[in-house]
Amino acid sequence: MKGNLLEICYLIGSVTFIVGLKMMGNAKTARKGNLYGAIGMTIAILGTIFLFERKDHEGNIVDYSVPGIVYALIFGAIALGTVIGWLTAKKVQMTKMPELVSVFNGMGGACAALISLIELNHLFHTSTEGSHTSYGMMIAIVLGLIIGSVSFSGSIIAFLKLNGTMNKPIRLPAYNLVNNVVMVGVLAFGGYFVMSGGNMLLACCLFGAAILYGILFTVPIGGADMPVVISLLNSFTGLAAAFGGFLYDNKVMLTGGILVGSAGTLLTLVMCKAMNRPLSGVLFGAFGGGGASAAGPDDVKGSIKDVQVSDLAVLMNYSKKVVIVPGYGLAVAQAQHVIHELEMLLEERGVEVKYAIHPVAGRMPGHMNVLLAESNVSYDKLVEMDDINPEFEQTDVVLIVGANDVVNPAAKTDPSSPIYGMPILEVNKAKNVIVNKRSMNAGYAGIDNLLFYDPKCSMFFGDAKKALTELVAELKTME
Ligand code: NDP
Repeated sequence: MKGNLLEICYLIGSVTFIVGLKMMGNAKTARKGNLYGAIGMTIAILGTIFLFERKDHEGNIVDYSVPGIVYALIFGAIALGTVIGWLTAKKVQMTKMPELVSVFNGMGGACAALISLIELNHLFHTSTEGSHTSYGMMIAIVLGLIIGSVSFSGSIIAFLKLNGTMNKPIRLPAYNLVNNVVMVGVLAFGGYFVMSGGNMLLACCLFGAAILYGILFTVPIGGADMPVVISLLNSFTGLAAAFGGFLYDNKVMLTGGILVGSAGTLLTLVMCKAMNRPLSGVLFGAFGGGGASAAGPDDVKGSIKDVQVSDLAVLMNYSKKVVIVPGYGLAVAQAQHVIHELEMLLEERGVEVKYAIHPVAGRMPGHMNVLLAESNVSYDKLVEMDDINPEFEQTDVVLIVGANDVVNPAAKTDPSSPIYGMPILEVNKAKNVIVNKRSMNAGYAGIDNLLFYDPKCSMFFGDAKKALTELVAELKTME
């Protein structure tokens, strides 16, 4: 009876994961999707704690009682984890989100590795003389151990890189060769472990070797490529969790792991495509480590012009159509509320306002959507790149706020540029282009932007929040 109820809990958990994930594909339903997934996970966890039945080798239910202290430990750990997770997620700034994701992902990897270690310990203590654990089971445990450990150490290095503690990629001589040799070594060690039956000392050595590989794999990659690496490590964690699900014959863990694994893989590929970078280039190349191919402002012919806030206010006030291009700088400056205020002010005066959303604007997929949703910008106003590009020709003013690479024409015109081939917002087709940023500094790809030298373009220098607040104040003084 209990077993059937538990299966139903797992079914609810699996269905809510799938429905929730689907809902996350749309900004309007994303929050609800997240909530559905969390509710499904809670049902699955509570079901496991209260409805699990232990079976012997013949499949008969074994009568056993769980000491109260075990429940106290389980709920104590859940309460502690919930408080830490809740507070951190509430407090984290939008620009620090990739760091948070990398830590959370690292914890998932560590869990998968610890489950494997505990399960091995359990096996070695309970197996009797002559009994043999199936190879399938052993392979699942060992793969969970290796992949979980790589994901854990890799995610921690990614976190250190993103928060600036490790701000330079460390590249040993022939690091790609060394890494591949270590990877093959770890896999061969895992194979030997399975064939020989292993022991706890070997298991700890395998854990250490996989941790080392995770570090070696991540340290040479530039900090700027970390979001892609995190997404890849996320898919590893999903895979490790799926092996855990196989191990315990736990359907919800298996479904959840497979979903995380496949979603992480797809996201990695989507990010690479949107940046026009092959995955191999991210993992084995040297992009983002300081911009070796970056052209400095001195290399560029032409001059820039800047615009005063009063002139800009007049220009926008008398426009018919304004398109706002949000970028990473908008998130850094936390200017999402003031941009919404500007939008409402312009709309009150009969100006049509839309936001152009590039798939990799910011530092993680969906960054701009989440940021603008925070300030209650209507979802209908967020227009994807492919849909907004044909509209630029009829646009009076494009206001670019803290974006750089996603509007860089070099992606179309300069085959030597590291972003060549990346799809961009074709803002230079608009009648006027205004760029708000603090200086002439480069963006993420570390390259100069010829758009700023276009005669149609004017620079509106300043921190996004401060500059836009001034613009809003100026507009309010106008009839
Ligand atoms: P960029 O990183 O290209 O440019 C951001 C610009 O914002 C900078 O040039 C900076 O100039 C300006 N800025 C910084 N702080 C402020 C501030 N307080 N006020 C005003 N401006 C500010 O951002 P984009 O969004 O255009 O492009 C995103 C980049 O990130 C792309 O190259 C993409 O490939 C990459 N990426 C995106 C991922 C994703 O999933 N979204 C994942 C991995 C990488 P200044 O210092 O002069 O102010």
